[in-house]
Amino acid sequence: MPKTSHRLTPASYSATSLQGIIQPGIVLDCWTANARAKRFDVVARVQDRFRLALRCHVCGAISIVRYSVVMASQKLLCRHCLDAAQRKTAEAAGMTFLRRDLDHHKSAFYLAPCGHEVRRQFGFVARMAQGEAALRCESCLVIREEAEATRFGWSRLGRDPHNNANYRLYRHACGHEQRIARANLAWGQCDCAGCGQSWAAKPSFIYLLDIRHQASERHFLKLGYSARPVKRHRHQLGLPQNAQVEVLRVVAMPTGHDACRIEKAAHAQLQSTHPEAIVPHPEYADLMNVVSEIYRPSVRSELHRMLDEIEAQVALTGAPTHPEPSPQQPGNRVSNAHPAPRRRGHLLKPRHRRV
Ligand SMILES: [Zn+2]
Ligand SMILES: [Zn+2]
Ligand SMILES: [Zn+2]
Repeated sequence: MPKTSHRLTPASYSATSLQGIIQPGIVLDCWTANARAKRFDVVARVQDRFRLALRCHVCGAISIVRYSVVMASQKLLCRHCLDAAQRKTAEAAGMTFLRRDLDHHKSAFYLAPCGHEVRRQFGFVARMAQGEAALRCESCLVIREEAEATRFGWSRLGRDPHNNANYRLYRHACGHEQRIARANLAWGQCDCAGCGQSWAAKPSFIYLLDIRHQASERHFLKLGYSARPVKRHRHQLGLPQNAQVEVLRVVAMPTGHDACRIEKAAHAQLQSTHPEAIVPHPEYADLMNVVSEIYRPSVRSELHRMLDEIEAQVALTGAPTHPEPSPQQPGNRVSNAHPAPRRRGHLLKPRHRRV
């Protein structure tokens, strides 16, 4: 864009609403000619003796601009046309353009698909529209972090008071407040310095992993359970360094026994309802050292639905088969109440043939 181009200030005047601000005085021919050359018609002199109302030849909308700008600029850009273009780009990016950010001329506010309002730069939205960037909604992130914390008996209070972007401030069920690295809490790896409850002493978790190996274009889901934070599972699964693992879901279970029983039941159910989604062992034998519970990505929503049910059941009954207190209960000083094995034979058999 040449330096002498000028963006007209936003104004949504109609020809009739201009009546109240029309100024006396003649419109000089040179203004009219210059405006026309830049694809605008002069409608009237408005507001004060310096300004003109211009109608855009493209969209017909009216903008107000100083006549000196009309004369001096090589190019006049209609803000209404620019906004229309931004609306289109936003639509292609899956969002709704709401309004420009008057404090940052390169940004605007958008309605994200999740329903939250976000502020983003135009360039970023254009990259989104091209599929080169993805929106990470800050409000959704906070909601996700709150859910992650609740799962392990903590509540998210806010940002880190020491301003470390990787940390947040949390409150444990016992009332103790503590800074914890967000990644650690997401994996359930957090000791409370107030009551001494340790993540290692906590019961068990059912987890859902998304495993991708781009080099061989493989994509699987893994359902499993563990009494240890799932963070260790990259090692336990024997995945190569170039494999990507994302934890899609972690459901805290009152006991390892419950986790084992429910996870087995879920697997059996999938075997009967979605046999096509069960990946045959040879397809991943060289990638990881498990022998079962590897599913096709197509069954992802079904797995989430099953985990929803499990989560609801646990929330409703607490400890369905055991008298041990749930990990969410305050002051729960479970030390060695869960003899559930850290590694399950069926889950993590000794290493299989690896290529
Ligand atoms: Zn226009
Ligand atoms: Zn959101
Ligand atoms: Zn505590």
